[in-house]
Amino acid sequence: MPAKAACAGGGEIMIYYSPVMAEENKSSLDALSALAKRRGFIYHSSEIYGGMPGFWDYGPLGCELKQNVKAAWWQFTVRGREDVAGLDATIIMHPKIWKASGHLDTFADPMTMCKDCKKLMRADQIKDIYAEQRKKPQPKVPGSDFFCPHCGGELTEPKPFNLMFKTIVGPIDDPSNVAYLRPETAQAIFAQFLNVLATSRQAVPFGIAQMGKSFRNEVTPRNYIFRSREFEQMELEFFIRPDEAVELLHGHVVTLADNPDLNGPVQDDWGWEVWHKYWVEQRKKFLNAVGLPTERFVEYWQKPDELAHYARACVDIEYDFPFGRQELEGIAARSDFDLTQHQKHSGVPQTVFDDPLKQAAKKLDDAAKAAFIAKVQADWVARGKDALAAEKFCRDLFDGKYVPHVIEPSAGVDRLMLALLCEAYEEQTLKDEKGKDDVRTVLHFSPKVAPVKAAIFPLIKKDEAQMKFARDLFEKLRRKVNVQWDVSGAIGRRYRRQDEAGTPWCITVDAQTVEDGTFTVRERDSMAQTRMTYEQFLAMMYAALEF
Ligand code: ATP
Repeated sequence: MPAKAACAGGGEIMIYYSPVMAEENKSSLDALSALAKRRGFIYHSSEIYGGMPGFWDYGPLGCELKQNVKAAWWQFTVRGREDVAGLDATIIMHPKIWKASGHLDTFADPMTMCKDCKKLMRADQIKDIYAEQRKKPQPKVPGSDFFCPHCGGELTEPKPFNLMFKTIVGPIDDPSNVAYLRPETAQAIFAQFLNVLATSRQAVPFGIAQMGKSFRNEVTPRNYIFRSREFEQMELEFFIRPDEAVELLHGHVVTLADNPDLNGPVQDDWGWEVWHKYWVEQRKKFLNAVGLPTERFVEYWQKPDELAHYARACVDIEYDFPFGRQELEGIAARSDFDLTQHQKHSGVPQTVFDDPLKQAAKKLDDAAKAAFIAKVQADWVARGKDALAAEKFCRDLFDGKYVPHVIEPSAGVDRLMLALLCEAYEEQTLKDEKGKDDVRTVLHFSPKVAPVKAAIFPLIKKDEAQMKFARDLFEKLRRKVNVQWDVSGAIGRRYRRQDEAGTPWCITVDAQTVEDGTFTVRERDSMAQTRMTYEQFLAMMYAALEF
């Protein structure tokens, strides 16, 4: 749909832009990565030494984008709620944590090697590599359907390869000093659960959130920053009562069949299923708020045979990356698996004391308690669990004690940044004043995550009054948000520079500004210009930045 834009002195007259063209442009990861390099979003790590596969650095604009993505998540998940507390734990932790979590024994990918070209690959990704290739090599062993996607050579039998990076703590290189760089941030939350509970004035249901670096020695890091060996995660463990405790407390458990209002305040009588769906909806709201429209991602509900043995449900939020539909983040209902594992391995009970539950149990007579136990036992036995364990569990509930269950929304910072870059990237063909085609590359970031919020341009560099006003404005704004100063070249050129950085507003200070204090604010997407006062600009900007 062609859109009109006010003349901005830089030849911005008419946009001839079709959504189809935008789709084609979006699919070009090459064009996007070239822009990301040229404008200082993303560089290869250690580039002057030839780079390191699976490691990426964020340049001046990239690290601003990253900070904003993380700040948005923290605001939405922690500060904007009363029932979530934060944590910032170490990357290297006691190695027993990884034994308890299962990472030491099972966090492995199947690895295979080509006997001819010696390339290492993940056996489960070979089909994807075939699919990505325009020309698939012929197998060197005729009739083979498992052959090297690079040269057609014979592949070795897949072997599990543990993805954790090992290191040595202290000066003595001995197996007893082996430790690991964390492969996820979540385990620290479980290991510190009791401390946070004791010091945060929270009670179940409540959550603990953490963001930070994680490390996985991926066999084949690929697709730009999508799968790296060093990356950042933003994880929330939201602890809830077991459904049996909710039943005891309220006499009922709200399930999805009850059609609960997931947009209103959270409710004490929700069961795990409702909490899980609630967090799926919260995550979708967050993704919308930072600039991913709902129609650009899908919910993939894992099938029962795909779930981990302890998981009750798991949803992947998938995004259509230029290289195909892939997981952006996941929301899992993990039962009481993690805390129970840490209880077993550390010997430290991970139970909470829930006084309202104990008070509710006190009101039951012996017959009512026996009926409650019988009901729980029937349910547990139907799910293949032990009747005696069910009775012990119920007696603990009567004392107000249980190990909390958990819902885990887990997101990758870098993956979200890639999705936001893909979503924002567009090459538009405009007509200049002479009617010639002029391509404008623009990143349509939401102002909430845009690396630079505004750029200040004095129209005429030699005009002292304009320069002074513009400089004062720049100094005032930079105390509030990230702004840039640009005096070089025609205004049109300066706009284009900011379009490529995704800056939502460009402020031009001109002769009228010196007279009445108003300046023009050019909006990136519509390219429309509006005269505003400083106060009007601030009000507009803050409204756009707020969650
Ligand atoms: P995948 O199946 O893509 O390997 P996963 O299911 O192992 O991912 P989780 O362990 O659930 O991922 O991690 C949670 C989130 O962390 C992922 O949804 C993703 O956003 C991010 N993440 C995981 N591994 C990587 C990686 N190697 N590089 C970048 N981000 C990652």
